[in-house]
Amino acid sequence: MYRLTCILFIFYLCVQTVNAKEIDLATFETSPIGSYLTYFSEKDNQKLSLEDAQQYFASGPTFSQSSQTIAKGFNVDSTWFKTSINNSMSLSNQYRLSIEIPWLDYIDVYLVSPSGEVKHIVGGDHLPISEQPVFNRFFAADMQFENGVTDLYIRIETTAIMPVPIKLSSVQDAIADYGADKFEYGFLYGILVALALYNLVLFFSIRKKIFGLYVLYILGFVLNSMSYTGHFYTFYTSHHGVHFQDYMDVSLMITYSVIGLHFGRKLLDTHLYAPNLNKAIANISNAIPFIILFLFIMDQLHLATIVAFLFNTSFAILTILLGVLAVRAKASAANFYLISSVTAAICVSVSTAAVAGFLPYNSFTFKAIELGMAFEGIILAVALATRFRDAQRDKERAEEHARKDELTDIFNRRGFKYATSLLFPQFKQNNENFALFLLDIDKFKLVNDKFGHATGDLVIIQVTRLLDETMRPEDVIARWGGEEFIVLLPVKDENEALQLAENLRIAIENLDTQYFDESVKITTSIGVSITNFNGPNQLRSDTEIFEKVISNADNALYQAKANGRNAVCMFNSEDINSNNDEEQNVHNTSPILT
Ligand code: GH3
Ligand code: MG
Ligand code: MG
Repeated sequence: MYRLTCILFIFYLCVQTVNAKEIDLATFETSPIGSYLTYFSEKDNQKLSLEDAQQYFASGPTFSQSSQTIAKGFNVDSTWFKTSINNSMSLSNQYRLSIEIPWLDYIDVYLVSPSGEVKHIVGGDHLPISEQPVFNRFFAADMQFENGVTDLYIRIETTAIMPVPIKLSSVQDAIADYGADKFEYGFLYGILVALALYNLVLFFSIRKKIFGLYVLYILGFVLNSMSYTGHFYTFYTSHHGVHFQDYMDVSLMITYSVIGLHFGRKLLDTHLYAPNLNKAIANISNAIPFIILFLFIMDQLHLATIVAFLFNTSFAILTILLGVLAVRAKASAANFYLISSVTAAICVSVSTAAVAGFLPYNSFTFKAIELGMAFEGIILAVALATRFRDAQRDKERAEEHARKDELTDIFNRRGFKYATSLLFPQFKQNNENFALFLLDIDKFKLVNDKFGHATGDLVIIQVTRLLDETMRPEDVIARWGGEEFIVLLPVKDENEALQLAENLRIAIENLDTQYFDESVKITTSIGVSITNFNGPNQLRSDTEIFEKVISNADNALYQAKANGRNAVCMFNSEDINSNNDEEQNVHNTSPILT
């Protein structure tokens, strides 16, 4: 609300010295009466009596303006307002005078009847709500006007800022307005509180700080709004002193802006592409509460209000700046954030212009800030979800990337372990045998030496392709290292495993990679081991079985190499748990042994 009144100060300059009109009850309908008022401010902190003020209005100089709401700006002197109400038709209706700003400290209303009788009504938040003329979140008083012209004088004294939306209405209209007002605030606060609660649940379940910041930001705004709109005031029937509401307004305004900036920075990952700005905002946001606290302790409420107000104005600008930078950096959720911060700024301007009288002053324009915030709350919740989804997707991508071999786009060692770990429970449950092939291209160094590394790469890719084509969909293939591959496959028995390995060996032997006019031929050695989860294996952990079966295949591969390469060797699986020399368990099954 304070940021809103910044502009009011400028609008204040628009006043003109013209004579205000008289309110004629015969034609008057419920409306703000800013344009019917003349006013002047007290000088040198000299509090005037009604008689002094009457004399001053008679001799001038006084001011008036054409807008419906008078905007008096910052730190104004106590101000007197006057209008005259003509009840030429002897109407006996009850009227209600409302001053729709809840933080005004002292309000004195004097009705000087045509017979000269003076009625004095006292209000403002220096009094507990129970002592206000009407129990309401802002000042209101009911009155009747005698036949003839009644002069209405209003004296307002307050710290900080003074927009003065004064309204005269029939009591019925006022009561209907207040009902609508309660409903509208309830609806807007309801949306925000529901969003905050939902994200609080997410915060506790997902345990991400950003959801917590969102909750604090939204609730901080609601509390701030409830404070400056006087809703809190209606809960305190006891007396808390003249400046209680001012202190609360300033504190809550600061709290919500500080959290809002932290939320924005964190949501948009500002530190990644604007580290200096990020740091500056973090430092300012952290320092502001201490500055305000210091000013409170030094009893500098007025200065604290100005600091808070400047900070809040910067807040609106900074959130837009954060949004623009984030959009430029293509940060996740940046568009949503920018839309929401621009909307918030527009809504604040609408409220400002309404209070200043530049736009029609009604409950819609006055509540534009809360309306904007409800919209902002929804958009930011979407932004949060978008960011979370993007982060999740990045994580999944990174995980997938970490499991893939770059050259061949098949699993690497890590991916193989991951994929097989998912298959193990299934094998276990079905009591299935599985075989493991460890393939190593023979004398691959020579290929590199003779045809170059690029051709070597091509050969590795060709072998991968061939593995892909030859093996069945349920088999898991991976690049185990340089020119080594690994295959895990469910098999009925050793014979099937040997047959499949043999097919593979022959297929690789027949592979033909062209290097210009030359044909690059390669062979592989394959170590095979087979196991199941039965028997002694039941007692082993998955990892132990995995390690064991790999080392067995490795031994078999070593044997195949030792036996002259281009061969398939099988490790004897029945002795998987024996302590015999494992080399003895390896037996060469390749038909092509040289
Ligand atoms: P053998 O296995 O039959 O004992 O002989 P080898 O020459 O294949 O054995 P070694 O393991 O000593 O050499 C493997 C070579 O594979 C060495 C390395 O330069 C090559 N290599 C490993 N990874 C790649 C790769 O990604 N691309 C290419 N072009 N060569 C690779
Ligand atoms: Mg090797
Ligand atoms: Mg090799």
